[in-house]
Amino acid sequence: MIIGNIQGLTADSENKSGSNCSSNHIELTQMGKEMNVIDKVILKKIQSKVSHWFDLERSLAKVPNSYGAVEGSPEKSWPNPEKIPLGGEVPFSIKNYFIVGKYLKSSIHQGVKAIQSLDQNPSTPKSTISPDDLDTFENQAKTLGIGVIGYAKLPRQVIFKDRAVIYDNVIVLLKEMNRDKIAKAPSVETFKMVMGTYDSLSKTVNTLSGYLRKMGYGAQGGYPLGGLTLFPPLAAAAGLGWNGRHGLLITPQYGPRQRIAAIYTSIDNLPFSKTNNHAWIGDFCDTCGRCIRTCPAKAIHKESLIHKSGRRTHITRDKCLPFFVNKQGCTVCVKECTFNRKNYEDIQKSFLHMQEKRVSKNH
Ligand code: SF4
Ligand code: SF4
Repeated sequence: MIIGNIQGLTADSENKSGSNCSSNHIELTQMGKEMNVIDKVILKKIQSKVSHWFDLERSLAKVPNSYGAVEGSPEKSWPNPEKIPLGGEVPFSIKNYFIVGKYLKSSIHQGVKAIQSLDQNPSTPKSTISPDDLDTFENQAKTLGIGVIGYAKLPRQVIFKDRAVIYDNVIVLLKEMNRDKIAKAPSVETFKMVMGTYDSLSKTVNTLSGYLRKMGYGAQGGYPLGGLTLFPPLAAAAGLGWNGRHGLLITPQYGPRQRIAAIYTSIDNLPFSKTNNHAWIGDFCDTCGRCIRTCPAKAIHKESLIHKSGRRTHITRDKCLPFFVNKQGCTVCVKECTFNRKNYEDIQKSFLHMQEKRVSKNH
């Protein structure tokens, strides 16, 4: 699921570098469509905005005491802005600009703002929070549409290559995606809702970062689109859920139907999760495979694939991307996931029951 992959789920060294304008033109011709003047102007603008954003992201690695990538860290899935035109290697296409361009533009703006606003952090940020202040923060987050909040100490392996964050205490935020719109996937309506959710969550992250700063804490907004870290394993580290076979986070509250964001903060006495009760989902996926059967591009596999980066995923990005780009962001794997069709507790209950029966039969 490439929207998920925007967050880097299968974003890795499968990406090839070195594309240029003429190769973009060839790609366009291959797709049977010449780029007109308006397309070219829009494309140049997107490329320049993304380039600026990525330069800012890379500059974070130069901030003293920031936390950068380590060996085995994943590559970000939007490595080169010049690859945007047809989504050949990047999950966005110029032709989708007319459907979701306003959300994309706004999300990029929020991403830039998240980095540029770092100079508004207090010069000596507080590092401990009282239970009352944490309650106030959580209530504020919920007022802004955040459904689930978790806390994790940052695992360095989730930081994207060439990227960095300035604090290693993480507040993980989940925002639900509309169930009815997911049910219509793939459709323009679904695509707009998904990109709209990214956009509103980006704004919320910046608002909440500002809120923490006013309370005297240091904060860095971890915007959901692209991001600086791989969110599903980060959310799992916060105990919120588990990665499904389709590469998306599955949670008790929303199944696979959420977008994830984070705030990296100076607060080091947060109630960090030390456990994760959702590992059974991995075993359940082994018995399910519904996303494998229903993916229209046959991009999800039973066996995991080892990418050049060394990471394992179940998705062939090259099969998913063309479908994603041509079918309004697809999202079929979210719609069809068993955890979107049935309740988490019911699935768990019947799965555990089935396992118990199997064990007692074998004895
Ligand atoms: S092509 Fe398959 S993996 Fe990609 S978004 Fe659609 S259902 Fe998900
Ligand atoms: S459809 Fe089934 S196999 Fe795929 S992620 Fe959902 S639960 Fe796992």
